[in-house]
Amino acid sequence: MGRRLLILGPPGAGKGTQAAMLCRAIGIPHVSTGVMLRDHVDRSTSLGAKAKKIMDSGALVPDDIVIAMVAERLDAADAACGFLLDGFPRTAAQAEALDDVLGDERGLEAVINLEADEDEVVQRILARGRSDDTEEAVRTRIAVYHEQTAPLIDFYLERGLLTRVDGVGDIDEILARIVAVLAS
Ligand code: AMP
Repeated sequence: MGRRLLILGPPGAGKGTQAAMLCRAIGIPHVSTGVMLRDHVDRSTSLGAKAKKIMDSGALVPDDIVIAMVAERLDAADAACGFLLDGFPRTAAQAEALDDVLGDERGLEAVINLEADEDEVVQRILARGRSDDTEEAVRTRIAVYHEQTAPLIDFYLERGLLTRVDGVGDIDEILARIVAVLAS
């Protein structure tokens, strides 16, 4: 099973839930830029103060900030044997920076594209109640996803790394689908 993994998908597809379950199951660190940024907000760091406004609007935090955060995280000892990226990369510039950070020896082994239809996604997000889950922010996040992040599907398809997984259904069943894809 590939251990340098990335999970892609629209906001609200359940990436965070599946990523956490998968990481627990196979014992690799869960590298989520959303979690890292919310941690900065909770600790009231200067980065957190800057990021909160952007996150609450549904826009993206600038590339240089998230790229530096991920580069540092992937440098930590526990990421040497593997990792699952969740919520990064979200732009072409981030995907290119990730290639540079990983280099040829440590490149991604598999990309899961977790699919969910848009109505389902909006319902799930509005049920979650995070501070960036207002209807307007959700609309912005979905628009930003289509513009900036969805093109990464083709980027990783062309490399032969990406597999689509149906993200609708029981969470344990979805995890089993992901595990099956990674094992094949
Ligand atoms: P998430 O938890 O992945 O839904 O991320 C929540 C919010 O954090 C996003 O709406 C963005 O404002 C910000 N964020 C998370 N990851 C990134 C990223 N890779 N690039 C830019 N902004 C990000």
